[in-house]
Amino acid sequence: APSGKVLLEVKGLAKSFGGLRAVDGCSFTVPEGSITGLIGPNGSGKTTVFNLIGGSMEGDGGEIWLDGRRIDRLPPWSRAHLGLGRTFQTTRLFNEMTALENVVAPLRDFSFGQLRLDGVSGAEAAKAQELLDFVGMGAYRDHPAGQLSYGQQKLVELAQILVLDPRLILLDEPAGGINPTLIERMGSLIRELNADGKTFLLVEHNMPFVLGLCDPIRVLAQGRCLAEGTPQEIQRDPRVVEAYLGD
Ligand code: ADP
Repeated sequence: APSGKVLLEVKGLAKSFGGLRAVDGCSFTVPEGSITGLIGPNGSGKTTVFNLIGGSMEGDGGEIWLDGRRIDRLPPWSRAHLGLGRTFQTTRLFNEMTALENVVAPLRDFSFGQLRLDGVSGAEAAKAQELLDFVGMGAYRDHPAGQLSYGQQKLVELAQILVLDPRLILLDEPAGGINPTLIERMGSLIRELNADGKTFLLVEHNMPFVLGLCDPIRVLAQGRCLAEGTPQEIQRDPRVVEAYLGD
C-alpha cells in the first residue's frame, strides 16, 4: 500500500527528435508502494519517457529523482543498482541461453556479445530457480529462452528483473501480446510483488487491465502529463476522453 512518500519524480522532462517534441515538459510522480499506470494515445511519449527513466536514452532537459537522488545523468546500470528495474515492450532475453541462465545474467554484469555464462554457482542457481518458480516457469529452467512462447518469455523477463531486487519496476506492456490466462497470471504476480513492497510504473494499452490494477494513473498526451488520478477520476475526465478521441 502507498506510504505517502514519493519514490520516483519526473520534473519537466523533455526530449525532441529533430523538430518533434516527443516529451515536452513532462512531470509526474510515482508514490512508493503504488502500482502506477502510465497511459496515453499512441505517440504521446510513453515509451520515450520510459527510455529516459531507465537511462537507455538521454533527455534534453528536466530531472528524474529516485528516492531523493537525482538519477538522470547516471548510466542505466547505475540506476539499476539504485533499485530501478525495467522490462521492454519486446522481450530482450538471450535466445540461446536457458531460462535459468537468463535470470542469473544480471548478477554477472553480463554484457551483450558474451553468449554463455561460465558456469552458474549453486547460490545463483537456487535464487534463479526460486524466481522462476515464483513466476510459474520453474519447469522451463533448462529451455533456451528463444524456444519459449512470447508470454513465457515475458514471465522469465520478470524473474530476470527481480533477481536484482529492484524497489521500482518499470513494466512496458506487461499484458501486451499474451493470452488471457497469462495476462491474469501477470496481474496477480504484480499484485503479489506489490503487496511485498515493490512499487510499479507500467505502460499498458489494455484498458481493463490498467483500470483493474493501477492506482494512481498518469495520462500522457503530446509529451505531457495531461491528467492524473484514480481509475474512476481518469475515466470521467473529459480531457482524457478528448485526448484519446482527438487523435
Ligand atoms: P508512445 O509510446 O506513447 O506511443 P513514443 O514515445 O514511442 O510514444 O513516441 C512519441 C513520439 O516520438 C512519436 O511521435 C514517435 O513517432 C516519436 N519518436 C519516438 N522515438 C523516436 C525516434 N527514435 N526517432 C524519431 N522519432 C521518435
